[in-house]
Amino acid sequence: MRFIRVDPISFDEDEIRTAAEIIRRGGLVAFPTETVYGLGADALNEKAVRKIFLAKGRPADNPLIVHVSDVDEIHRIAEPNRVALKLIDEFFPGPLTLVMKKKKVVPAATTAGLNTVAVRMPSHRVALKLIELSETPISAPSANRSGKPSPTRAEHVAEDFGDEVDIIIDAGKTEIGLESTVVDTTVYPLEILRPGAITKEMIEEFYEVRDVKKAKIARSPGMRYRHYSPSADVIVLVGDSFKEEMIELAERLEKSGKRPGIAAMKSSDISGFPVYDLGESLEDYAERLFDALRSLDRICDVIVVEGVEEKGIGAAIMNRLSKAGKIYRV
Ligand code: AMP
Ligand code: MG
Repeated sequence: MRFIRVDPISFDEDEIRTAAEIIRRGGLVAFPTETVYGLGADALNEKAVRKIFLAKGRPADNPLIVHVSDVDEIHRIAEPNRVALKLIDEFFPGPLTLVMKKKKVVPAATTAGLNTVAVRMPSHRVALKLIELSETPISAPSANRSGKPSPTRAEHVAEDFGDEVDIIIDAGKTEIGLESTVVDTTVYPLEILRPGAITKEMIEEFYEVRDVKKAKIARSPGMRYRHYSPSADVIVLVGDSFKEEMIELAERLEKSGKRPGIAAMKSSDISGFPVYDLGESLEDYAERLFDALRSLDRICDVIVVEGVEEKGIGAAIMNRLSKAGKIYRV
């Protein structure tokens, strides 16, 4: 596996060219986006797409998001309706994925046999350049082994994969840190299949939207599976006086022979346990969450995490935490 380091903003096109060659030849490239690192292959090459499933250990019925570098490319692979076109106009490029009717060029392996395709145009310059130089849309799920927390640093990708990945492009930490919002535009009201940094409130400025709860999950098969989980148990506390509760819980866990760790915002006053600071704002929290889970997982067997209010990007944070562990209101 090769590693190339690039500056996320002022990189040289030639640095990305080798990786684009690998995509064109049907190989696997891990690359940065503004959400998390992706594990990319030529979306229109069935054999290349199969390698993604194999490397990740991803169930074949869990469809992939197809990444494009311009709007024309969307029309090559999908049939956006009027609502989708408006959302593309408002939010692309960015952390929003739209599920649309698919065109025939997209192989069944990419969409897990569905007649829809999920499409996103990332805003990360390295991702856009890679797609452009590859001259093909790129299928890319998060570049982690299925079930593990998504990678927000190139080191996370290297941790999960060996030589199954041909090249990793390292452009440092990802800016948002949570996967894209997935919206189904083939139904109305629109349905949020996965919350992310483009929030329900932002989309509601234009259209009626509803969250999809468990009953309808078959529509987005990925939501069925256990996700984002470190090996350690994850306990999420939500409430008013959760800081004291977190420390008390960690103390009790330690007495019972466990090795607890704590992930919390503004955590400088917590001591006596391994602590990962989740920052001052919900944006800091989102950006750091997966690294916190991975880091504490190395030294702890229980991770006590501060929960947040399910508003704005808080909804996406709580969605990931609900899949990583158990949520308790205190
Ligand atoms: P990942 O790229 O691994 O972070 O996950 C992509 C998410 O998008 C998963 O939850 C998939 O189930 C969902 N997804 C991808 N394609 C479709 C589609 N055609 N219809 C519904 N959900 C999709
Ligand atoms: Mg994923």
